[in-house]
Amino acid sequence: MNSINVMPAISNRPVRVAIVGSGPSGFYAADTLLKSDQDVVVDMYDRLPTPFGLVRGGVAPDHPKIKNVIKVYEGIAKNEAFGFFGNVNVGDDLSVEELRRFYDAVLFSCGAETDRRLEIPGVDLAGSHTATEFVGWYNGHPDYRQRSFDLTQEVAVVIGQGNVAVDVTRILAKTVDELKDTDVAQHSLDALAESKVKEVHMIGRRGPVQAAFTSKEIREMGELVDADLVFNNLADFDLNPASQAELDDAGNTDAQRNWKVLEELRAAGEPAGKSRRVVVHFFASPKELQGTSRIESLVLEKNQLAGDPGNQWAEGTGQTSEMDCGLFFRSVGYRGVAIPGVPFDEKRGVFPNERGRITDGGSVMAGMYAAGWIKRGPSGVIGTNKPDSVESAQMLLEDAPSLEACAEPDSAAVTDLLKSRDVRVVSYADWQRIDAAEVERGAAVGKPREKFTTVEEMLALL
Ligand SMILES: Cc1cc2nc3c(=O)[nH]c(=O)nc-3n(C[C@H](O)[C@H](O)[C@H](O)COP(=O)(O)OP(=O)(O)OC[C@H]3O[C@@H](n4cnc5c(N)ncnc54)[C@H](O)[C@@H]3O)c2cc1C
Repeated sequence: MNSINVMPAISNRPVRVAIVGSGPSGFYAADTLLKSDQDVVVDMYDRLPTPFGLVRGGVAPDHPKIKNVIKVYEGIAKNEAFGFFGNVNVGDDLSVEELRRFYDAVLFSCGAETDRRLEIPGVDLAGSHTATEFVGWYNGHPDYRQRSFDLTQEVAVVIGQGNVAVDVTRILAKTVDELKDTDVAQHSLDALAESKVKEVHMIGRRGPVQAAFTSKEIREMGELVDADLVFNNLADFDLNPASQAELDDAGNTDAQRNWKVLEELRAAGEPAGKSRRVVVHFFASPKELQGTSRIESLVLEKNQLAGDPGNQWAEGTGQTSEMDCGLFFRSVGYRGVAIPGVPFDEKRGVFPNERGRITDGGSVMAGMYAAGWIKRGPSGVIGTNKPDSVESAQMLLEDAPSLEACAEPDSAAVTDLLKSRDVRVVSYADWQRIDAAEVERGAAVGKPREKFTTVEEMLALL
């Protein structure tokens, strides 16, 4: 008899699944599990008292329509077999081993919560920040409530040309009137109201055909009330043959859409003389931040492209230039954070997996799954997580008949254990109270919500 046959099977009760992380991927996985023809209960954990991951803490406040997806997640949470365990940091408040005592399977959808490092001299000087810090700050994420940014500086630089870099640039360039009716955190709105930033430079290492932003986001940059959009060097639009081939590739619709918008923006002619300027640079990489007690200037190196169409990389030319820089934001990608008890791919910053089944040294770990950014890395929009999570949940459902039954199939016992550790579990009903209070606070000041920005405030309300 092999060991699989002596394992206690799950019988006469639903399969118990813990989902770690309540962002889009967690909700899409929960939906697949709860809609399946198998009897499944899902308890969803989040380290914050609030659900919805980056939809709440990442998506820009001036893009409220994108947050409408929350309604879908609220629908999923209504299922009787769904439970929310907010304010529980898995790996800290509760170990993965403990979680496995209460659940037959654990699915990790804990995102990519830290940044890839930009290894240049001076990167740790005051005035240099990650985009994550700034985004978390303006979105009222409790981790970043205490951050401050020296907005007395006139020149800000954002490194990267993905949509997050565009968000950061746009928030720095917008007027307070453009932001005041959004759910931007009040502490940020107050600070932005005093901002002296006049120029925001958004810098990408490759060219306009390779830029990672989407056409909608870059178009919006040309529609700012009091900031002109300009390009640092119009010669950057003279494409090399490989870039031209990329643009001509019928399948490259993203680049074609971007190109069309960029052409319109270029054709718009002379800047209108607004108070602020957004300057888009292509073909440049940061080499060094200079300054004594804080950053004062940035050394850039000019790049050229090498490689075949579709696979071109930026190569430094050795030609450098120096520019003033008082505030520096790096948006060069995200990485997952390791959780004790789960294998971690240090190089990619993800949990190693095969189609969502977590692997250890190449072998599948029974009952352990991953979905979303922690599974595939930080790529794609909210909707990209849906098929990704469906795949992982389907693997779990396929494995369910052979999963080892957990020792203590009891969610109340988890709450008791956490209580004994002074961890106040925030239920879904608790979250709904926080939600209602935020909406009420917002209504008083003409905003869709005024977020609580510390865990203490949220727990005090409860
Ligand atoms: C700044 C920014 C802006 C974006 N804007 C857009 C946009 O406008 N439109 C769009 O379509 N996409 C946008 N995206 C992309 C989109 O947000 C992601 O595709 C999506 O959120 C990834 O989902 P996820 O569930 O994998 O991770 P996340 O949304 O990050 O969710 C992970 C969750 O896990 C929780 N967690 C982490 N560790 C633990 C732990 N140890 N224990 C318990 N809980 C834990 C976190 O608190 C979080 O709630 C944006 C991304 C960023 C970074």
